[in-house]
Amino acid sequence: HQVLARGNIRFDGVTFRYHGAQQDAVSDISLSIKQGEKIALLGRTGCGKSTLLQLITRNWDPREGQIFIDDVPLTQWQESTLRQSIAVVSQRVDLFNGTLRNNLRMAAPNASDESLVSVLNQVGLQVLLEEPGLDMWLGDGGRLLSGGERRRLGIARAMLRDAPILLLDEPTEGLDAKTEQQILTLLLEHAKDKTVLFITHRLVGLQQMDTVCLMDEGGIIEQGSHTAL
Ligand code: ATP
Ligand code: MG
Repeated sequence: HQVLARGNIRFDGVTFRYHGAQQDAVSDISLSIKQGEKIALLGRTGCGKSTLLQLITRNWDPREGQIFIDDVPLTQWQESTLRQSIAVVSQRVDLFNGTLRNNLRMAAPNASDESLVSVLNQVGLQVLLEEPGLDMWLGDGGRLLSGGERRRLGIARAMLRDAPILLLDEPTEGLDAKTEQQILTLLLEHAKDKTVLFITHRLVGLQQMDTVCLMDEGGIIEQGSHTAL
């Protein structure tokens, strides 16, 4: 399947267990997210939130059930098209050895320097634009970034990818409350027409979501608007 996704995601009875694990990390998940919908996924540590997200990006394949994007099974999507259709801010942002420019361009190979600079300003990483700017070396032997700077870099990458589906795994972890609110506002503005899955274990940002899902021990135990829950 080779056209960019519109952004409908559907889990149909999805169960997954990590190799060698004693129990399922997620079990019998059925969940439908419509194009443009903003959905939050809440639940305590280890309940399967990141696993659910990683099943969408095909880091793993379900052992039972199926995931569909725009009613096409994930397995039928061409990998490159899927990658272009989904932007992810993962819990751990990896830097690779290379310039700041290339660390950003991995998300958008054709992005101009101007657009890279603009996104860095938006996420509050102006500090990285001092000499030598986009040529700054990151990774081994390069500039070390603080946890918060890394996170912002991950957010900048996701914004540059500009995909119809945005998956956020605790995107503001480790940022102070004021910055957290700013970054969430920025992300939601960017994602106005996009499908958003927002994993969090806090209550910040929930009122901006259409739907909130509560997870526990690999299953979805409740689903509704944030006021209903
Ligand atoms: P947190 O809020 O701490 O990020 P989470 O809800 O994202 O937690 P997951 O990372 O999805 O939880 O983990 C679900 C379960 O699967 C946990 O029991 C975890 O230990 C296990 N698990 C996660 N990743 C792996 C892996 N790569 N190999 C084996 N087990 C794993
Ligand atoms: Mg997680």
